[in-house]
Amino acid sequence: MTITPIKTSLRTSGMNNNRKEISLTPECQIKSHVSLAAYTSYRVGGPAELYVAPRDMNSLQASVQYAVEEGLPVTILGAGSNLLISDRGISGLVIATRHLRHTHFDLQRGLVTVAAGEAIPALAWEAAKLGWSGLEWAVGIPGTMGGAVVMNAGAHGDCIADILVSAEVLLPNGSLKTLTSDELGYTYRTSKLQGSNLVVTQATFRLQPGVDPVKVTSVTQQHKKQRLTTQPYDKPSCGSVFRNPTPYAAGRLIEEAGLKGFQIGGAQVSPRHANFIINSGGARAGDIFNLIRHVQQQVQQHWSISLEPEVKMMGEFLPVC
Ligand SMILES: Cc1cc2nc3c(=O)[nH]c(=O)nc-3n(C[C@H](O)[C@H](O)[C@H](O)COP(=O)(O)OP(=O)(O)OC[C@H]3O[C@@H](n4cnc5c(N)ncnc54)[C@H](O)[C@@H]3O)c2cc1C
Repeated sequence: MTITPIKTSLRTSGMNNNRKEISLTPECQIKSHVSLAAYTSYRVGGPAELYVAPRDMNSLQASVQYAVEEGLPVTILGAGSNLLISDRGISGLVIATRHLRHTHFDLQRGLVTVAAGEAIPALAWEAAKLGWSGLEWAVGIPGTMGGAVVMNAGAHGDCIADILVSAEVLLPNGSLKTLTSDELGYTYRTSKLQGSNLVVTQATFRLQPGVDPVKVTSVTQQHKKQRLTTQPYDKPSCGSVFRNPTPYAAGRLIEEAGLKGFQIGGAQVSPRHANFIINSGGARAGDIFNLIRHVQQQVQQHWSISLEPEVKMMGEFLPVC
């Protein structure tokens, strides 16, 4: 299926010396120099050179088309819950997907189709309320469904790859393609979508309808409670910073290297869960970046194990002094 290309009518209105606004469609404006800190769970990061948050497919397609025509690099932003954005910001066009919203439960086939911008916890609660089992594990993951599909998000032994039937993606040429779970090449917290130039627009998951809603809700609540008691949800973070290097748990390696509570600037290895680096107040992205590198060095020295970040770092970071 191809999205009907719409004529991009560019209207530039000066806001101040450095700012401009470009209307792609009546409902969709590209803005310049938009701070991204408010759009990430770490609450840090510099501005997007250009930023747009489309509310429908035509606007999304027009945004991608604009970037292609202007030769701009494109960065996709979901809920920003797995991102560390540089203090210097991001050049090119940042496209935020969080306003792309719709959910359809197909009772006959046990399938739910969700737009990329839908929030994972909201979907998990909605499924529970309807008595659809299969998403209880996801309730504590504060991202969008698009981000979850790209990251192969998972918790409590389950992950997106276990339930995904297919994902619809937008190609740079404006056409849409449906990819199966096999085509996405899922492994632990990884998919072929990472580092690609494809935008996930929606995804279809197989769940189990017809289960007692009280039971599904109760399991969902237990998962939420367990996370709230073991992880530092009260401070800005990106969740687990490092992938677990099989067969070890990254948090345990960091804790036993004596790093719990270790701090650089406003960035701290969480005293509650060592695989979380939190913004304990006033952190800059550079502090978090330097702490990530420090933890990697210390774990390498202590355990001869190289920790690989799960968090996606975007923009330019200066090397640690
Ligand atoms: C408190 C906390 C707890 C967490 N717990 C977990 C957990 O238990 N398990 C887990 O797996 N993760 C966890 N995370 C990390 C994070 O929530 C997940 O990785 C989530 O799937 C990211 O979704 P997002 O929408 O925030 O994506 P973002 O962080 O915005 O983006 C992540 C990556 O996906 C890309 N992307 C996002 N949307 C799209 C799209 N529509 N099309 C193409 N590319 C896209 C981005 O460019 C980026 O490369 C946690 C984070 C926090 C803050």
